[in-house]
Amino acid sequence: MKVLTTLFMLLFLGTPILVSSQALSSQEKKILKLIDQDLDEAKEFLIKVVNINSGTMNHKGVRKVGQLFGDAFNELSMKSLWVELPDSVNRAGHLVVEKVGGTGKRLLLIGHLDTVFEEDSPFQKYEPIGDNKAKAPGGQDMKGGDVVILYALKALHAAGVINDATITVVMTGDEEKPGKPLSVSREALIEAGKRSDIALGFEGGRPGYGVTARRSSSGWKLEVEGTRSHSSRIFSENVGSGAIFEVARILNAFHEEVKGEEYLTFNPGVILGGTMVDYDHSLNKGTAFGKTNVVSQTALVQGGMRTISMDQLKRTQEKMKAIVENGNLPGTSASISFTEGYPPMSPTEENKKILDEFDQVSKDLGYGPIEAFDPGARGAADVSFVSFIPGIDGLGMFGEGAHTPQEIVDMGSLELAVKRAAILIYRLTR
Ligand SMILES: [Zn+2]
Repeated sequence: MKVLTTLFMLLFLGTPILVSSQALSSQEKKILKLIDQDLDEAKEFLIKVVNINSGTMNHKGVRKVGQLFGDAFNELSMKSLWVELPDSVNRAGHLVVEKVGGTGKRLLLIGHLDTVFEEDSPFQKYEPIGDNKAKAPGGQDMKGGDVVILYALKALHAAGVINDATITVVMTGDEEKPGKPLSVSREALIEAGKRSDIALGFEGGRPGYGVTARRSSSGWKLEVEGTRSHSSRIFSENVGSGAIFEVARILNAFHEEVKGEEYLTFNPGVILGGTMVDYDHSLNKGTAFGKTNVVSQTALVQGGMRTISMDQLKRTQEKMKAIVENGNLPGTSASISFTEGYPPMSPTEENKKILDEFDQVSKDLGYGPIEAFDPGARGAADVSFVSFIPGIDGLGMFGEGAHTPQEIVDMGSLELAVKRAAILIYRLTR
């Protein structure tokens, strides 16, 4: 019965509601006009920053893009600051922009300056491909979203409606390849979250969707030892089964006993086994040496894992650990270690409320309803680090092919994204 009622409500509420511009206040209409005036400039700004290479490891390029945004924010009576990271972290640093006021919810707007396309990538320049679309390295992911933040705030500033608002913008310089340890490379972002009430992430969006949840992303490493011997003695009392049979037991048990929970995935990405193995983490590459007539002495698996909550992460790690440490085959031992990663952003009620506000804004603007994106289909992002405050993500520009040389940004989505963001920020800061 409950299911039926819910279904009915979904069908009913899902009906597109026709827009009346009466839903917008005169102040909001004024903001939209100001956005229209600046759209060409916003587009030019996007092209300019896309054409500056800012691959995560091109620190100079990341800083240069940060400088352009920082200067532009300074003109909006905001204070921009470049946060340096210790040399050992080996990343460019972050742009942090702030204005402090006394009214409304304190907002944190999140972007990133870096892209996955380093200086040696053949994909470097903005190139229009018709239909108001363009091939653009980092255009959708996420210089487009950064431009959306800038031009939404520019219009709100020109309208004189955020003079007394508290807004922090953090554009990280290493979202695509975060510096380690994360506690250091994400400190500025986390601290900004503590000074804010709501986080809005401007990663690339999808028409009709917003992001209220993202899964965690972290790693695991499985190491197995066996007893080296002539193969004719395998399974004997002194030799046992060898490292490779043991690693097979463990992985099979992970597959049979650990998988199955909703939103939980874990993936062994690479495996090496034999008499000797050697794995280079920075290259994601390794070698193994072994002979068919020698019982394997060692085996190594590197894996990744995604979860919807810290709870699920901990529970999964414990299950894996129990399998690794118990029931080892004769003559073998095994250990598993877990590496830090992106925390999850769980689908909370508070996040849903912000999505509802965003949905209302979108409908009032005539852009149609917004629903929550399937968290299982989203990767991790910086917004997850501030999931201790409510927030949503996916407020950026539309496009496709992120992280590939076919990345396309939908330039037609710029107007929509800036307008949605500006009205949402306006309403949240009242
Ligand atoms: Zn991104």
